[in-house]
Amino acid sequence: MKAIRVHETGGPEALSYDDVEVAEPGPGEARVRLAASGVNYIDTYQRSGLYPKELPFTLGLEGAGEVEAVGEGVEELSPGDYVAFASAQGSYAEYVVAPAENLVPFNVTLVEARVAAAVMLQGMTAHYLTHSTFPIQEGQTVLIHAAAGGVGLLLCQMAKMRGATVIGTAGTEEKAGLAKGAGADEVILYTEQDFVAETKRITDGEGVHAVYDGVGKETFDGGLDVLRPRGYMVLFGASSGPVPPLDPQTLNQKGGLFLTRPSLAQYSADREELEWRAESLFSWIGQGNLDVRIGGSYALEDAAQAQRDLEGRKTTGKLLLIP
Ligand code: NDP
Repeated sequence: MKAIRVHETGGPEALSYDDVEVAEPGPGEARVRLAASGVNYIDTYQRSGLYPKELPFTLGLEGAGEVEAVGEGVEELSPGDYVAFASAQGSYAEYVVAPAENLVPFNVTLVEARVAAAVMLQGMTAHYLTHSTFPIQEGQTVLIHAAAGGVGLLLCQMAKMRGATVIGTAGTEEKAGLAKGAGADEVILYTEQDFVAETKRITDGEGVHAVYDGVGKETFDGGLDVLRPRGYMVLFGASSGPVPPLDPQTLNQKGGLFLTRPSLAQYSADREELEWRAESLFSWIGQGNLDVRIGGSYALEDAAQAQRDLEGRKTTGKLLLIP
């Protein structure tokens, strides 16, 4: 089969389109023929070596497709079932062999396989951020950075479902329009406007209850300034670069703020929690209550271009690789 592998870490040119053997599933595993694989920021961190891995390795953590074979002891899945996943290493490929406990079945007549692949990682992230990390209460106001991004568009929709007033930020007018379409009440063009001043103006100087920040370095300090006393800074990514170390006293000076830096793995390690999040997404999609924007689909061999576009701030919504 074809797979995108990394032999040496580096830029997008480090991605190699290789021929590799299709593996047999071992005990507790299943082999999935992929309909689509999701492209995520974490793949770029693995590629560059920021998140070190033993070389060579096949990239990709997310995807969806049809179970083709199951290993010993797997009773909950059978060939022909459709499954989606957010944590099975090696999904930039035609097939992946993964632990069955990481795979979530879905009804392919209700949710298209490409949509399932597109929603797992970013959708479960938006779910845990809005339902568990800072569980939004009706009537609260939140600021969502990069609101037209993959996680951003889903965060906007889920924050609205929970009854929030949503202020988004976006880099271009086109992106601002998409964020509004996803429910953002106000969108600040943070490439042209001072988002701190704008957020204070929109909230009549009161500030927001929580900031969801996946941008990191360029937005973090400003985010602390727009939180109301005892507000929550939910820092979940670093698309503009990592946030430098912080003196805890800053949180006191700015109003007794809370700061957390969570990852999906901490909010989906438990099978029940994984199923709760994934099944919520599938049921919202099936009912037409959650729109998953696939902003770009690329052939598997064009994975490097997909990553260039993601890192180059050129994309909206989700990027998929089609094997
Ligand atoms: P996005 O689709 O949001 O793409 C990144 C966006 O960030 C860009 O489109 C851009 O939007 C904005 N951005 C602002 N400054 C920069 C910059 N200097 N360089 C590049 N982009 C910039 O990506 P994802 O939705 O896939 O991920 C968003 C963030 O969430 C990432 O940091 C990712 O690592 C993190 N993440 C964290 C998870 C967790 O559990 N902690 C899980 C999943 C993702 P604009 O032009 O509008 O500014």
